[in-house]
Amino acid sequence: MKLKVDADLFLFDLDGTVYLGDTPIEGAMETLGKLSAMGKKVCFLTNNSSKDKREYVRKLTSMGYPVDLWQIITSTMAAVQFLHTRRPSKSVYPVGTPTFIKTLEEESIPISDDADIVLLAFDTTLTYDKLWRANVLLEKGREFIATHPDTVCPSDRGDMPDVGSLMALLECSSGRAPSVICGKPHSPMAEIIAHLFDIPKEKIVMVGDRLYTDILFGINNGYQSVLVLSGETSVEMLNASGIKPSFVFDSIRDMIEDD
Ligand SMILES: [Mg+2]
Repeated sequence: MKLKVDADLFLFDLDGTVYLGDTPIEGAMETLGKLSAMGKKVCFLTNNSSKDKREYVRKLTSMGYPVDLWQIITSTMAAVQFLHTRRPSKSVYPVGTPTFIKTLEEESIPISDDADIVLLAFDTTLTYDKLWRANVLLEKGREFIATHPDTVCPSDRGDMPDVGSLMALLECSSGRAPSVICGKPHSPMAEIIAHLFDIPKEKIVMVGDRLYTDILFGINNGYQSVLVLSGETSVEMLNASGIKPSFVFDSIRDMIEDD
């Protein structure tokens, strides 16, 4: 068994990379198991700030790769780390799910209706009142921070409007754009990884199916990058993009050569 990518920490995107909706990508769980058995650190990086990390643990474990909580890294964690280190003691008005708000509370981030910062997350419980309050705060000049830039989140019921689309709405109503975006491909996501792991950048690889989030994240932060063609990117899209991943494979299964 030979690994084609020389790294100590493997960061995997989830949807389109290790599974498609509720179906594991063929051979993906076996590959993850082999990497762990080789002593490699395997983590999953998701921009989704609407869910509890335990949901991903349950999902991956039920698909056949047992996961611990430390292996799940979300844009919520990147946002919390950014707030702790760069905006200490500033209060936030969260536009987010109850799960998201509970995480902020557990992390002792001050929450207020008249906050210093509007913190926009993937809010699948969004109401008109929340948008209205966020808009009023932005018009007052309060800082605007978003957890991630994705415009849609794929689901088996069709694409869900995600944070990037809500950013566009608030930009239209308030004339304000976020000063900081936390998730892939932006640097706060790399800062949380540097905070969690003492591993040199060259020994880290980002594996994912999206050029403008996963692969740019790897390139922007000095990691190696693996584009897999099991999700949204085709060879034609890759060629037209001008983005150059370190490796391109059909699936994560191809990262390991069986002998
Ligand atoms: Mg993906």
